[in-house]
Parts: sequence; structure tokens; C-alpha cells
Amino acid sequence: MTRNEERFETKVIHEGYDSKDHLGSLATPLFQTSTFTFDSAEQGERRFAGEEEGYVYSRLGNPTVRVLEERIAALEGGEMGLAFGSGMAAVSAVLTALTKANDHILCSQGLYGCTFGLLTMMKEKYGITHDFSLMASEEEVHSRIQPNTAVIYIETPINPTMKLIDLDMVVRVAKTYNIPVVVDNTFSSPYLQRPIELGCDIVLHSATKYIGGHGDLVAGLVVGKQAFMKEVAMTTQKDIGGIIAPFDAWLLLRGLKTLPVRMDRHCDNAEKIAQALAEHPSIKAVYYPGDPDHPDAKVRAKQMKAGGGVIAFDIHGSKKEAQKLLNSLEFIKIAVSLGDTESLIQHPATMTHAVVPEHARRQMGINDELIRLSVGLEAWEDIWSDLSQALDHVLPQYADHTSHSI
Ligand SMILES: *Cc1c(COP(=O)(O)O)cnc(C)c1O
Repeated sequence: MTRNEERFETKVIHEGYDSKDHLGSLATPLFQTSTFTFDSAEQGERRFAGEEEGYVYSRLGNPTVRVLEERIAALEGGEMGLAFGSGMAAVSAVLTALTKANDHILCSQGLYGCTFGLLTMMKEKYGITHDFSLMASEEEVHSRIQPNTAVIYIETPINPTMKLIDLDMVVRVAKTYNIPVVVDNTFSSPYLQRPIELGCDIVLHSATKYIGGHGDLVAGLVVGKQAFMKEVAMTTQKDIGGIIAPFDAWLLLRGLKTLPVRMDRHCDNAEKIAQALAEHPSIKAVYYPGDPDHPDAKVRAKQMKAGGGVIAFDIHGSKKEAQKLLNSLEFIKIAVSLGDTESLIQHPATMTHAVVPEHARRQMGINDELIRLSVGLEAWEDIWSDLSQALDHVLPQYADHTSHSI
């Protein structure tokens, strides 16, 4: 069996590293160094001229980081990977590489708050405009393309409303115009969804979330075709410089090894919590892609292995009740971020999406009563007890004394 035929669960552990090359070290060595020495001045000249392979300086490449980059490329089914110091460093490196002044970016309706901030900045500084599209049909995507559209930028599932976009459908339209499709795959991880296999061009991640998985670092990853990725490496990565620290790359390699096992549990727990929430009288609506009645369930079945670990829900109430609910929890932590072992809860309208102007926020479906929960790896029964005691405390008029006892 060749390395290429190995399954995902094997690649997360072995891809890009052979202990035989490193004195038998089972764990990938941590090359905690800024620079690399040359044997001679002539060797330095050859390395800078690109005539000889080898490391030069850690902003241009580092052996620990390289293992991570090879591993993520294999996991996403792409040609080349690059690691960054944050998800936003990855997003900005990709969007800067793909656009020039006065271009246009077509985006999914609903984006990570800081991605929205970056697009606003690009518009103000460089005249790079953007539009939001529901991307609900081929006709709609066609109708939103402009002569200067340089990128189609998609989040699916959309944060935090958990709507899905049919990637295969968008790719069909994009190919007719030769416009690259970029997917922020943070919410799914490559274990649940692999956009490149569906024809998308570039996949990026906030590796801070599921890929790291333990809430102890901030990092970003990008995978795409070799020619484009080399361009990013030599321009927006090298010259803007949002690189990852070797130690964070080392932690990500450690986190990745358990990604499939963790994702299975995140998804199982989230399915159970989503169902319990849907049956609770104080909940107005639940948004979870793994729900068989989710409006995009067919798209989910086509492109995702399972529904993921993030749930959003509307309570019967407003901002006041939403905040009180968060304050009434016992062990579920009030925090942004997601994909950690701990269950994390947040209020998008005043936290992750506070930078989005109110009209745009409401257009995205982010109301004051919307709450986002990243379901952790604790026993689901304990997560539900904590949630249901808080709901009954905040909204006693809806308290359900029958269904939530387990
Ligand atoms: C967190 C996040 C980002 C930004 O990543 P950082 O690592 O925080 O810079 C981008 N996209 C999505 C969907 C995210 O959840």
C-alpha cells in the first residue's frame, strides 16, 4: 500500500514525517530556530538564488512547520499547504494574493466577523468591493457575478447561522467564468468536508479551532494548487509575514493526530444536544446542520460526513435573556472560539459579530436572541443538564419539568 492510499485516520498521524529521518524520534522534532547556518558563503548564495534546496530563515520555511504543511495538504486532498500565525493571517494572505485594486469579491451571506472587517478595509483602502449572496441557486450565483469579480469566498456552514452552501453547484458556475472559489473550512475540518475534492480551488482554516482542538494556540492553514501557493509563499506570506511559530506548528501536529476521534464525539454530542434543545419549550429555533429537518439537509448529505459540533439557537427572549442565560451556566464557559474540548457559548450579536453593522447583521440572520454553542467533549448528559437548568432559570414561564430529565 502506498502512502497515497492510506486512509484519513492514518494520514493525520503519519503524513509528512518519517522517524527514520530524525534519529528515530517518534514525535516530530521542534526546530525552535529563527535562522539556518550555511556551510559556506557560496552555499548561502545558491540558497538565495533558489539553486539549492534547504532552509534559510524561518519566515521562509521551517522543518517543523513544513511537516504540518505537508500533512494538511494531504488531508484536504490538495497539492501544497502553508501555515500562518492566525486564521486571519491566512484569510488576508489569500485575499490579498487573489485581488488587485477595484476588483470585486462575491461572498456567502454570513461571514466570520473579522473577515467582514477585512473586506470593509479592502473596500475603503483599495476600492475592492464585495457583495453577499445566498448562493441558493445557480441562477442566483450567475446573476451576482460582475466583470471584475476576482474571487468567490464561501463559509459553509455559515457562522453562526449554520446555513449550508452547495459547493458543487457554486463550482459549476465559477468554472464558466474561471473565477477561483475559496472556502473557509474552519467549522467542518477536513475530516467532515473536503472542498478541493468538490472542485474548489483554495481551502483555508482557522486552525485555532478544531484542528488544534485544545484551546491553547492561534493559527491558520491554507491549501491549494502548487503554483498559487508558491506565489502566496513568496509574496503575501514572505513580505507581510504572518507566519506561524514552530512551537504552535508542533502543537497542531499533536492536535491533528486525534482530529477524527474528537470530531466523531463532537458530532455525536452536538446531535444529542440539538435534539434536546429542539424539544425544549423555551427554544424558538435550533440551527444545526446534522438535524435531518435542517433546510439544507440534502446539501449536508452531499458534502459533509456529519453535522459538526456547533449549534446556534434562538431563545424566546431578547438580548437581556440571552445574556442572563450565559450568566446562569455552571461549567459551560462563556467564550468565543470553538472546537475545543470544553463547551463554549457566546452571544454573536454582541461578541463575534459586534463589528457587523446592525442591518447587515440582521440580514445575516443574527438576532439578539441568537446564541452559539460549541459543543465540547464532556458527557453530553452533563452539557444538557447545565443548559437546561440555565434555560429554566432564565425563562421559568417555559420551564419544562418533564422532557429534560435524563
Ligand atoms: C476563528 C475564525 C477565523 C479567524 O481565525 P483566527 O485564528 O482567530 O485568526 C476565520 N474564520 C472562521 C470561520 C473562524 O471561526
